[in-house]
Amino acid sequence: MNEADTEIIRAVLSKEDFQFVTDEIDADVVMLNTCAIRENAHRKVYGRIHDIRHRRAGKPVTIGILGCMATNLRQDLLENKNLDIDFIAGPDSYKRLGDLIRQSGLHGEKPFDVTLSEFETYCDIYPQHKTGVNAWVAVSRGCDNFCTFCVVPYTRGRERSRSVENIVEEVRRLAIEGFKQVTLLGQNVNSYIDYSHPQQIASSPLNETPRNDAKPRDFADLLDAVSQIDGIERIRFTSPHPKDFPEKLIAVVAKNPKVCKHIHLPLQSGNTRVLEMMNRTYTQQEFLDLATKVRAMCPDIFLTTDIIVGFPTETEAEFEDTVKVVKDVQFDAAFIFKYSERKNTVASKRYPDNITEDQKKSRIVRLQEIQKEITYKKNSAYIGKTLKVLLEHGTNKLKNDFVGRTDGGHLVLLPQGNYQSGQIIDVMIISASPHALKGNVISPNPSSLQLDTNSKI
Ligand code: SAH
Ligand code: SF4
Repeated sequence: MNEADTEIIRAVLSKEDFQFVTDEIDADVVMLNTCAIRENAHRKVYGRIHDIRHRRAGKPVTIGILGCMATNLRQDLLENKNLDIDFIAGPDSYKRLGDLIRQSGLHGEKPFDVTLSEFETYCDIYPQHKTGVNAWVAVSRGCDNFCTFCVVPYTRGRERSRSVENIVEEVRRLAIEGFKQVTLLGQNVNSYIDYSHPQQIASSPLNETPRNDAKPRDFADLLDAVSQIDGIERIRFTSPHPKDFPEKLIAVVAKNPKVCKHIHLPLQSGNTRVLEMMNRTYTQQEFLDLATKVRAMCPDIFLTTDIIVGFPTETEAEFEDTVKVVKDVQFDAAFIFKYSERKNTVASKRYPDNITEDQKKSRIVRLQEIQKEITYKKNSAYIGKTLKVLLEHGTNKLKNDFVGRTDGGHLVLLPQGNYQSGQIIDVMIISASPHALKGNVISPNPSSLQLDTNSKI
């Protein structure tokens, strides 16, 4: 989401004639677009502020803190004498960035705007998308779920969605620019809802009366609309919440060939008491039933998840429930985090962070080990199979390899060849690790793949 926001920021500032440099050492203004989701995110940012000043070696530079940390840690950022920053802007204030930059330093002030909006979606800004195969498209902002551990509802405000037409228009432009894949983004992307249709018709210049059947359009409708755009081959989305998975949505994922067969289903905990404390609104059994239904309707689905270990009061037996769900569901991959208390959240006010660092560490290590084995076993099952791979780019680390992704989302490494980013090719998988698959191109014939030097990708 922050990458998508940075693309919006670039578009906003370019309109005001600011110019971007590639190395921060050459910049008069440096902005850090920050995350506040876990403690280590903010430590990293504090370290970066010192680094930037150090690299500039005394030459003046204006430093701005943007994003969730700006909202969450406003007071500390403005008053902490050890933090040498010049202005701050929250996620809904990016249209004011030019003013904040110009005001910073005047009269020794640190201007800030961390106002959260119930309406701002930046739907009138066409982001400066980073070149590549994939483009991020933020379809909604904010979150109303208030999971007790999570800072997002406080840093990004209430949930609001862009209209289907507005999103389709952006994706059309992306297709013309040569992007092959879009990833639709929202903090809770599948609770997307567009109520605008009836009003839009009522206020259109043609003065049509609203159709009686005009209904709000949900996330499944949005996926269908985006999939009709020529040139876009793959559609991904993140991050959904298990509570918003009606059969209609699972059916679109299962049946629409452009919608990738990947669902990220954040579990957080496998224990019903802990889930209730987290305010996740589902029980262990309901989560298991949903995973079973998803697999039944879409057998080749790639299922991933997020898990938090060491939530306040989580016992060993309750942690074992999470292990049980991980083993039962057999996720293809999992992002596992140690609970990190965040300022302002309900958990920080109601539940003391009483699980020791050692206990958290021991639980995360055990769970990661279990998941690694599952991922390895699942990845190994692809050896000998032919999968469709969307080519992304060459790798820096492994100079001889080219990188692509399967429809599900597996990273696939290919031997060097005359490939073109953005092409979808058939690959025979020859080996697997817990992190990636390796394969050989079988179609089209690698020697017939010509590099298109005019490609915008
Ligand atoms: N909207 C998504 C989550 C986005 S945050 C959802 O509902 O699942 C990404 C992940 O960070 C979360 O799924 C959660 O696993 C983790 N996370 C969020 N707050 C956290 C906290 N306070 N401590 C540890 N992990 C946290
Ligand atoms: Fe945070 Fe996700 Fe819960 Fe929203 S749904 S409060 S973003 S964890």
